[in-house]
Amino acid sequence: MSLVVQKYGGSSVADAESVKRVARRIVEYRKSGHDVVVVVSAMGDSTDDLIDLAKEVSPIPPARELDMLLTAGERISMAVLAMAIANLGYEAQSFTGSQAGVITDESFGRARIIDVTPGRIRSALDDGNVAIVAGFQGVSQTTKNITTLGRGGSDTTAVALAAALGADVCEIYSDVDGVFTADPRIVPSAKKIGIISYEEMLEMAASGAKILMLRCVEYARRYGVPVHVRSSFSQRQGTWVTDSPIPEDLRTSTTEPETDASMEQAIISGVAHDRSEAKLTIVGVPDVPGKAAEIFRTIAGQEIDIDMIVQNISTRDPGRTDISFTLPMADGSKAMESLEAAKGSIGFHHLQYDDQIGKLSVIGAGMRSHPGVTATLFDALSKAHINIDMISTSEIRISVVTSAELLDTAVRAAHSAYGLDTADTEAIVYGGTGR
Ligand code: ASP
Ligand code: MG
Repeated sequence: MSLVVQKYGGSSVADAESVKRVARRIVEYRKSGHDVVVVVSAMGDSTDDLIDLAKEVSPIPPARELDMLLTAGERISMAVLAMAIANLGYEAQSFTGSQAGVITDESFGRARIIDVTPGRIRSALDDGNVAIVAGFQGVSQTTKNITTLGRGGSDTTAVALAAALGADVCEIYSDVDGVFTADPRIVPSAKKIGIISYEEMLEMAASGAKILMLRCVEYARRYGVPVHVRSSFSQRQGTWVTDSPIPEDLRTSTTEPETDASMEQAIISGVAHDRSEAKLTIVGVPDVPGKAAEIFRTIAGQEIDIDMIVQNISTRDPGRTDISFTLPMADGSKAMESLEAAKGSIGFHHLQYDDQIGKLSVIGAGMRSHPGVTATLFDALSKAHINIDMISTSEIRISVVTSAELLDTAVRAAHSAYGLDTADTEAIVYGGTGR
């Protein structure tokens, strides 16, 4: 007998019919004698609807109340799912994040899980129940306020619970069959990845792949939780995120035989893209020690995460340099205002802002031991007449910034250049949102 934590995303529980379908799936699993803890997201797009509702009554809703409101979405799905399971003749009990022992820090909207004390979940399982937990929420250890974990946070709830309960696997169900070598909406010839390391999945998530929330992968890696990303609309084997071989008994018997899960490590695992960043250039910064520190202290003071940084000697102005960096588009105006306010002390000429950019990243642990991976990318982009604006690399990732307009073409070019295209179009998106 094993213990599995299953997380169902919003599109898997979008309406009553879907909830009943998921309930049947859970009961099937339960029938084979396994313990099941289920983590649910809010039904369909209801989190967005709740945010819209809040904005209708207040342009800047108080963070505490917004979190309180948003947790309602997951509470609806957990109770409804428990009812659907009960209707099939099985015992189920639902729990809020706080009841399930998900303890967070006190920051609203993006709280971090600091501890999980799943005593009530354990007893519910011991009593023969399916335990259903509202994802994306917890309770602050210090203030006792209800918090949310950030968009897509139910993934993190699931992995954190799996770690705390010592589950054999954490299954993340969405409306796609797994993690693909690129977004199938852009690259129809993308293929499903059979198995991927935590490290690579972290880079994929950090580079814009939306299938798993970054924090959830960090958590899985820290506690060594094997994660199986799969579709709730099919019985197929999905993508395993793990550093160990997949245990035989955890491979679902109902799935078709899988070949690529055991294939040797590809050099490149996938191509990720990100459209959510903007580029800010500070023109004419005095080329003396301390200026970069001043600039990035100003940015950090606004709690803005920056990504790539490039510094160049200013062509027209001796003794000065231009510094460009990328940042979340959503933080653009905050960054501009804070730098503008520090213009006098930093002493730059002016700022340039560009939000018509896209970022492409190729990720693969194999690039460590294979020279020429970078050249292949630049070659492919040049053949596609795509100009590269910025470049950054890690041991297992190469990222480039291009114009937003050419990003899709760039992704397709890179995907083909590394031989990732497949002839049989496997990528089926069953729902609508990819979550
Ligand atoms: N319902 C939340 C969201 O839409 C959390 C989640 O889906 O994981 O972001
Ligand atoms: Mg959701």
